[in-house]
Amino acid sequence: MKTGFLLVKECLEHKHHPEVPERVVAIGERLEKCGLLSKLSSYDLHSNPIDVVTTLHTKEHAAAIEAIPGSGKAARFAVAGVLGAVKAVSEGKIKNAFCAIRPPGHHATNLCKEQGYCYYANTSVAARYAQSLGHKKVLIIDWDFHHGNGAEDFFYDDPTVFTFSTHHAGGYPFTGLPERIGEGAGKGFNMNCHLDVGAEDSDMINVWKTKLLPAMESFKPDFILISAGFDSRERDKLGCWNISDKGYFELTRLAMQMADKYCNGRIVSALEGGYNPIGVSRGAVAHIAALMNEPAIPDDFDPTPGELQPKDKPAMRFGWIFFPDGEAEKIASIEMRRSDNSLVYNLPVTNIKMNAVNTKLPSLEVGSYINRLIYKDGRTIESAFDYEQVFKG
Ligand SMILES: [Zn+2]
Repeated sequence: MKTGFLLVKECLEHKHHPEVPERVVAIGERLEKCGLLSKLSSYDLHSNPIDVVTTLHTKEHAAAIEAIPGSGKAARFAVAGVLGAVKAVSEGKIKNAFCAIRPPGHHATNLCKEQGYCYYANTSVAARYAQSLGHKKVLIIDWDFHHGNGAEDFFYDDPTVFTFSTHHAGGYPFTGLPERIGEGAGKGFNMNCHLDVGAEDSDMINVWKTKLLPAMESFKPDFILISAGFDSRERDKLGCWNISDKGYFELTRLAMQMADKYCNGRIVSALEGGYNPIGVSRGAVAHIAALMNEPAIPDDFDPTPGELQPKDKPAMRFGWIFFPDGEAEKIASIEMRRSDNSLVYNLPVTNIKMNAVNTKLPSLEVGSYINRLIYKDGRTIESAFDYEQVFKG
């Protein structure tokens, strides 16, 4: 049986910088260039996804999202893509699947608006759908840099959906503390793992082997869903970890071992974050190659063009500055200046959360800015950014 793959074209109609259509286009192009696309099997979109969406989201939320021009349609097709994959895997038409969809879903709850680029909680809706097809216990694995707060919210008291998220708990949406383990009947079925700035393959694999795999020995999932965000990858624009393509290949292999052991190989994976399109395509192709049982990641045919340079550390992202362990305590203040050197602010560093500091970005006019970290010993580190490029929707 083949691995399923669908690039849902309607998902390209929605634009939201930096969650851009190029993220999924690049995945399709790379699969074709490296010869994997023809070995994959397509599958059908679910024909009536909103009926399934409203088994989890409120009707008010679905109506509000549907009413957003462009984005509402793209969000509906994104969730239809994931549900279609669940159905095809459930019916044994494909072995497993990767859904090249956007907008992503793992931050969405029921706020009747977009949250962190997300509209419908794609994998959470898919979990409920898998259950309706007879797969009683569902595992959701989230390897995005950011916490999968949507799945945690929806299933916090539910022992039938096990939610496992690795993330930086100081980053958006500022949730995901390890002590949040579920409540009531769902206590012990929500697992949050904070990984520090600069986390590598070995850190991620270690939490899988010491926490996730042992937990699954008693949970024994009937279906596995992956919220596959590639902002956990090295050289991402927003994430601050260094997971390599080899890391995603290896994580996928571990997920497949679990799926073979407990649920006849059933895995459906859906794209979440990842903001360096070339990097997303490399990480996703490594992930898909593993799902296909390819012996190795296909040879890279165009090493590095389009990739961002390795980021400076500390890493500055959207008004937050992430520090390697122990580094934040050495900083006296954070300063932002315009390109003409006029001061926007100078903030003393006092509130440090999980090695991250919120610089409380003020409303800025379009232009170039410089962030400057001033260390207690007098050293400074500067990082320039362009407001229009980074922040404008
Ligand atoms: Zn993310």
